[in-house]
Amino acid sequence: MSLLQKIQQQRHDLTHRAFDRHIRLGVTGLSGSGKTAFITSLVHQLTQGDEPANLPFFDVVREQRYLGGKLAAQLPDMPRFPLEQNLQYLQQQPPQWPPSTVGSSRLGLQLRYKAAAGLRARLQSHSELALDIIDYPGEWLLDLPLLEMSYRQWCEFSWQLFNREHRTTLAQPFLQQLQDVDLTNDGELYVQQLTDSYKQLLQQYHDLPGAYLNQPGRLLVPGQLAGAPMLQLFPLLPQQAEQNTALVAKLTQHYDSYRKHVIKPFYRRYFAALDRQVILVDCLSALNAGYAATQELQQALRLILQSFNYGPSSLLSRLFKPQISKVLFAASKADHATPEQHKALTLLLQQLLQQPLKHSQYQAATTEAMAIAAIRASDSGFVRVDGLAQPCISGTGLAQQALTYFPGEVPATVPDRALFAAHKFDFIPLRPLPWQDGQALRHVRMDHVLQFLLGDKLR
Ligand code: GDP
Repeated sequence: MSLLQKIQQQRHDLTHRAFDRHIRLGVTGLSGSGKTAFITSLVHQLTQGDEPANLPFFDVVREQRYLGGKLAAQLPDMPRFPLEQNLQYLQQQPPQWPPSTVGSSRLGLQLRYKAAAGLRARLQSHSELALDIIDYPGEWLLDLPLLEMSYRQWCEFSWQLFNREHRTTLAQPFLQQLQDVDLTNDGELYVQQLTDSYKQLLQQYHDLPGAYLNQPGRLLVPGQLAGAPMLQLFPLLPQQAEQNTALVAKLTQHYDSYRKHVIKPFYRRYFAALDRQVILVDCLSALNAGYAATQELQQALRLILQSFNYGPSSLLSRLFKPQISKVLFAASKADHATPEQHKALTLLLQQLLQQPLKHSQYQAATTEAMAIAAIRASDSGFVRVDGLAQPCISGTGLAQQALTYFPGEVPATVPDRALFAAHKFDFIPLRPLPWQDGQALRHVRMDHVLQFLLGDKLR
């Protein structure tokens, strides 16, 4: 290589490095909120669906500056997000939803684009952006409030929750077991036996529509923590937790270890490294599940939001310096409702988050709320009823039945008990629309999502 070539190469390397960017995007949401579908679609749109007709509101694509995205080599530090398998499920006949993610996973992408203007556009033929997508359960964020509660307070919190109308029946066997508990026994087998009963209860709650607030986050999906003593953990009855006995001491110790060795490291190692965050919320399933469920979703979201409150006195800013600059709250599966209801769905989400997002406390982060469908399961249109055009959707139900119907209105505010008593919400689950490799995956507003999350980095 001549000296001139060397200098040119160095200049290329330097400008490349100076202009290269790296974004770590967190995707979270409570179990079933749509993380798997969302990441599958997001990656597919960036690698295969990059046509202006498919992503009209994604500037870099509309302006024909997007040169494509490809999957990056994966570091072995986290399981890889199973993109290819998920796409295969969607291609089956009849199409299937991919299985939900458990635990956390990651997928890296390398995006190439032409800069719009300025120095970068002049110096480089193309620019690159590395995008790291990190998927983790929203349940892990529900652990944050435990940092501010003692074991005894957590017991009280838990039993208040288990006494609610939609939870109390399932809690009875565990309640009876605790009423006969021997508080002086802290033997390994005994503690494990009680933990197993609690785990069983958590599993039942996990399967109960509308029971969102399940703690601790790692008891059901322990991952690498399987078998760790600190996961021998369950809430005693509040009056029991006040006593000074061997079992209380042991559980308190496990609770404290869990906070120190699970919750804090998660925030320091993973959360602190995120630049942007998507939080998926399945509002329509909560409406289906009724009043208590919707109230609990609201409470769970408020707890999750604590992880994005970086105010100077917040718990998080005492732990580390968060750097999340954009947070997108997405009401998922919006294709279960007709398009003119999406505005109401967005307003409902904002109300569930209990604050007009504009006047938010997230000093550092820009936030946005929108109604989306990562992977469409319905087409929308109109039917004539008594000479009037009535909006409707059509799709295929889980039992393979063809459906065309008006799914009902979405309330723009959180309904009260009386409305739930008078009206049963019924947003029916559907199969994904048929799709073949080579086609763009159909969606609702994934282009807006991409523009909000990445648009400024692809200028
Ligand atoms: P996760 O547990 O957060 O990973 O949630 P999933 O992505 O597995 O979604 C749970 C279920 O919600 C799926 O199996 C689908 O039935 C449904 N779902 C997810 N995304 C969409 C969507 O965009 N549209 C529709 N209609 N249903 C969806």
